[in-house]
Amino acid sequence: MSRFGSRRTATASYVDGMTPAATESPADLVVTGCAVLTHDDRERIGFAEDSAIVVRGGVVEEVTGAGAVAGRAARERIDARGQVALPGLINCHTHAPMVALRGLAEDLPTEEWFNDVIWPVESNLTGRDVELGALLACAEMIRGGVTCFADHYFAMDAVAAVVAGCGMRALLGEAFFSSQGAEGRERSLAFALRHRGAADGRITTALAPHAPYTVDDTDLAATARLAHEHGLPVHLHAAENRDQTEACLARHGVTPIEVLHRTGVLDTDVLIAHGTGIVESDLPLLERASGRTAVATAPRGYLKFAWPHTTPVRALRGIGVPVGLATDGAASNNSLDVWESMALTSLIQKSAENDPRWLTSRQALHHATLQSARAVGLGGSVGSIAPGRRADLVLVDLTGPHTQPVHDLAATLVHSARAADVRTTIVDGRILMRDRELLTIDVPGVVRELGERLPALVDRSHGRRIQEYGT
Ligand SMILES: [Zn+2]
Repeated sequence: MSRFGSRRTATASYVDGMTPAATESPADLVVTGCAVLTHDDRERIGFAEDSAIVVRGGVVEEVTGAGAVAGRAARERIDARGQVALPGLINCHTHAPMVALRGLAEDLPTEEWFNDVIWPVESNLTGRDVELGALLACAEMIRGGVTCFADHYFAMDAVAAVVAGCGMRALLGEAFFSSQGAEGRERSLAFALRHRGAADGRITTALAPHAPYTVDDTDLAATARLAHEHGLPVHLHAAENRDQTEACLARHGVTPIEVLHRTGVLDTDVLIAHGTGIVESDLPLLERASGRTAVATAPRGYLKFAWPHTTPVRALRGIGVPVGLATDGAASNNSLDVWESMALTSLIQKSAENDPRWLTSRQALHHATLQSARAVGLGGSVGSIAPGRRADLVLVDLTGPHTQPVHDLAATLVHSARAADVRTTIVDGRILMRDRELLTIDVPGVVRELGERLPALVDRSHGRRIQEYGT
């Protein structure tokens, strides 16, 4: 394997190597021979070549040179020469089960997409549809190197069961509209309390109002109170596009971000999906909330819906608001490929800011790692490969012709590598995919059963909708 880049010692324990592991029981997993993406104490991205990662009890115990683990006892070893270890990608906003609707509503403006196809079809959803969709989504994400996702949907008990079974990590929220009455909000709370900390801690939960245009101020204010009372974050769509911001101003005299402010939602730990309609006057409010607010960007859908703006990443960086990478649901995005979101974010930001020096590959990797981890409330436990962090990591093969030669490893990862280059995906130290083989999900079985259910799922002859879109 050719040289990856300059070696950089990442952490104190990288160099001291003085762990008790050598004299104790075997490590659970040793990954050896790879380059490891590291963050220094100023969070700059670096790469340590010819390294090893030692995992014990679901946690990274040590990141060291490959030579240091040569004789180390381990229950499982992975020879990762020619590969790069990255923190697992995080999909900061999706609706995983919507993979069942992939390609069903194409080439439509937002309003028709919702009112004519998606919301009529979603009135047919059953728990089993949601479960099969989530299984397919998790399989796709694991294959693309995603180890954690923030999901916002209906019948989320089914998604929680899938997460528990397939081994991924997730921030889950049961979505609700005010049209459901108080019951929607209560269900969202009950779900969050029931599943918080489930699957050995891999599941965290959020309250999940749909958006300020479908959830009224009373419900948003109640959500903020419940978030404080129970110590829960809030995950919702807001200022998705500029039309929504303008409609909100025309109808209520305030922007969607001002709605979140006046209802107290900005005083909670809030994850805002999209924010392409965030305007200049919103920035002081977001800055005041910057320790608690994050935004998820899913740029493919903005292009597809022909929205004129994208998430204002540069302005958000200026006020200290992390921006995580996302795909949204596959009904609009067509894939759950966070790798693509990373490349698109870099490209669209360069274009939007008219600045080729902005959103460099290293910045893109920072969004993909620490900023995404912060966005889903896991900034202290995932998002970097370092001692004490949960062992959520992926191994990426860079031996393919489309990734050679490697002059700048960060650029290779962001602009040349693809999701299909991920060979191995590990969550909490458990291998979910090894050498491209999925170990926890039976994809053919899922596709077969989902296929049988599709005619009933996509039927719109009843004329019902779960909700009306009018921004
Ligand atoms: Zn969404």
